[in-house]
Amino acid sequence: MNRYPQLRHELDELHRMGLTRSLRQTEYVAKSQGTWIVANGQKLLNLSSNNYLGLSYDPRILHSWEMASQAFGAGGTSSRLVVGNFSCYDHTEKMISRWKEREAALVFANGYMANLGCITALLDRHGAVYSDRLNHASIVDGTILSRADHYRYRHNDYEHLQYLLRKHKGNHRRNVIVTDTVFSMDGDKADVEELVRIKHDHGVFLMVDEAHAGGVYGKSGAGLCHQYGVHQEVDILMGTCSKALGLYGAYVCADQVVIDYLVHTCRPLIYSTSLPPALISAIGQSVAIVQQEDWRRKELYRKSKQFRMKLQQAGLLVPAGDSPIVPLLLGDNQTAIQYSKLLEQEGILAVAIRPPTVPENSARIRFSLMATHSDEDLAWATHKIIRTAIELGVIT
Ligand code: PMP
Repeated sequence: MNRYPQLRHELDELHRMGLTRSLRQTEYVAKSQGTWIVANGQKLLNLSSNNYLGLSYDPRILHSWEMASQAFGAGGTSSRLVVGNFSCYDHTEKMISRWKEREAALVFANGYMANLGCITALLDRHGAVYSDRLNHASIVDGTILSRADHYRYRHNDYEHLQYLLRKHKGNHRRNVIVTDTVFSMDGDKADVEELVRIKHDHGVFLMVDEAHAGGVYGKSGAGLCHQYGVHQEVDILMGTCSKALGLYGAYVCADQVVIDYLVHTCRPLIYSTSLPPALISAIGQSVAIVQQEDWRRKELYRKSKQFRMKLQQAGLLVPAGDSPIVPLLLGDNQTAIQYSKLLEQEGILAVAIRPPTVPENSARIRFSLMATHSDEDLAWATHKIIRTAIELGVIT
């Protein structure tokens, strides 16, 4: 019996356009530190996670998780503003703020909520958000929810951004430029020095999302803004614990007054249960490891560089860059799906990314590297990726 014909029809339409999504069941091969995965009973080399530094199985992080759950219990039990603000929060937030060299830090449930929460706290219908066209969906959704005017500038085009700032000058009570620092689907970077100059010239706020830069760039992995020495100039530095830190959750770093303001105004923080304390402790442990173990970043750079170069040399459309996100641009959805399926048959998990996650006609395979991938596994995968491209007629 078809009880929801309209929904069925819309799903069929998505299928016809090559836009079907599915919840694949996955399990990690524990000894491989997450570099190998079992999906639908098949063992696959994992080239699709954001676990850039290979920390999700780190025994020190797991130990800290276990110890904290014994000490504090399993759940947050209420909002942080009621009885959910365990002492491990203070410890972890101090560690994050020292790492980021900012006055204060505030942990959030996840990156999506951090972006949504900060934007809606800072802005209302009298404000304006100037947003890179390729920013993460959570920035777009936060802006829509805030009811602020939404001005999207062309990707990394700061002439366009300044044109928009001049055009709407004086029309809003508060103006915020928001950008990812490393773009999640392309792996390219914002020019954070230029953005800081623009922020000062126009007297507006600057908020950056360092989700894919945290742990990867800058001294001690503190992010792209640190690499360029502008981390003190940015008003709100947001980062996630779900990528290089190997965990879950997110944080925002800023001056104390900004953090105090968020505690009073940020609805996802006020009206949602605090994260499990074990997770908060584990985040603190992961931040310590990320700062100390520079070798992970060195391995990640070396492996990403080699992987990218080999695909480019084979004639594949892989943009220049130095991030562990290596997109292979294919264009149409069906080719991307077919490519991903063939790679899976060869023993490689590399997911096809399609609209609306990326713009129309820019479907791709998004490879992402880990510091802990072995050189042998990557050499084997590179060979298969190139052979599959020839088989599909992507290159000759
Ligand atoms: N910002 C960016 C740039 C992201 O790529 C993501 C996640 N893919 C998020 C925010 C959301 O982070 P989380 O997964 O922790 O909700």
